[in-house]
Parts: sequence; structure tokens; C-alpha cells
Amino acid sequence: MLKKKINNLLIGSNNQGKIDEFKELLPKSVKIHSAKDYNLSSPIENRKTFRGNSLLKARFFSKQTKKICLADDSGLEIDLLNKKPGIYSARWAGKKNNFNIAIKKVFSQLNKKDKTWKSKKIKARFICALTIYWPNGKFFTSVGKIDGRISKSKKGKLGFGYDPIFIPKGKELTFGEISRSAKAKIDHRMKAYKNIKKFF
Ligand code: IMP
Repeated sequence: MLKKKINNLLIGSNNQGKIDEFKELLPKSVKIHSAKDYNLSSPIENRKTFRGNSLLKARFFSKQTKKICLADDSGLEIDLLNKKPGIYSARWAGKKNNFNIAIKKVFSQLNKKDKTWKSKKIKARFICALTIYWPNGKFFTSVGKIDGRISKSKKGKLGFGYDPIFIPKGKELTFGEISRSAKAKIDHRMKAYKNIKKFF
């Protein structure tokens, strides 16, 4: 049992969008710092799994700042592409973070694999790994997933990243067509967060 709830936390990311998302998830009573406050750039994500990369980032920022740190790693796995883009989800969008390019790449790779993919159900899932790392070396990792399929075309202007091509299981609309609050009730990030909520 944890004796003390975390009330001071460093978010191990330089991505303002991600920091804002965490602020929405965490209780308002938690004082949040970011990697920017310490002028630290992010480490190279060289692990083979979401879990490994989230641990690498959380450990790096905690060691550098001596603070309790929360870091994540997330992405989209497509079964027909042997789980790609996976941990390379951000990298497929290039240095300028252009998801038109990343989504075009998804469609061209699917076409290469199977010209008739649009008439099939292309199974995919979003995954999010979250790690909390304490300065004494203890850590806790939680992984959340949401299953779904790839849309035949880009749909919707809401959300970010691969949202316009992902249709969650049991639904007909892409994440790009549903509100942020509706997505946040079912998505991979929320599921991963559920298991670490107890620390705050
Ligand atoms: P990273 O965790 O910073 O390495 O990047 C995660 C990548 O996966 C980004 O490129 C995101 O666009 C993509 N991604 C993760 N979660 C979502 C989501 O909920 N919707 C759309 N794209 C996502």
C-alpha cells in the first residue's frame, strides 16, 4: 500500500499537447512540472515496446530531476502490416509531425500488402503505456488498449494523429468524427490511466 499520494509530478514530455492531455486526466490538486521547466530534451526512444519506451522516458526524466515522473508511449498497431506503425507511429509523420503523410503511408502499405484490403476488416488497435518512476528507482507501468479497424478513407476533423482512420470496435464512426470527451471515455489512454489513478 502506498502511504502518500503523489502531489508533485514531472511529465516526461516536451510535447505541449501531451502535457495538456495529462493535465486533463490528473486531479487538479497535483502540481505539474514539465521537461521544458528543466530545459531537458527527450531521450532517444530505442526500446522495442511501448512499455519499454515509456519506462525509458520516465526513468530518464526522474534521474535528471530527482522528481517523481510520469511518461507515456503510444501508437497504432495494424495487424495486416505486422503491427506497424506501432512504436514508430510518431516517426511515420516525419519531423514536421505531418499526419497526412503518415496516413498516406498507412494506405500505401495496405495497398502493397493486399489490393483488396478495402473490402476487408483491417484489424488495428491503439495502445498506450504509462510509467510512473520514483527517484528511489521504484516504478509502475500500465498498458491500455482499444481494438478497432482501419477506415477505407480518412473521415472527420476531430482529434489528432491517426484518429481519422481508426474506427473503434462496435462503432461506425472514426475517432476523427467523435468528440474528445466521447473518445476519452473509451480510449487506450483512459484505460492505462485507470490503473495508475490510485497513486494520485
Ligand atoms: P509518442 O507516444 O509520442 O511516441 O507518439 C505516439 C504516436 O501515436 C503519435 O504519433 C500519435 O499521433 C499516435 N497516437 C497515439 N495515440 C493516439 C490517438 O489517440 N489518436 C491518434 N493517434 C494517436
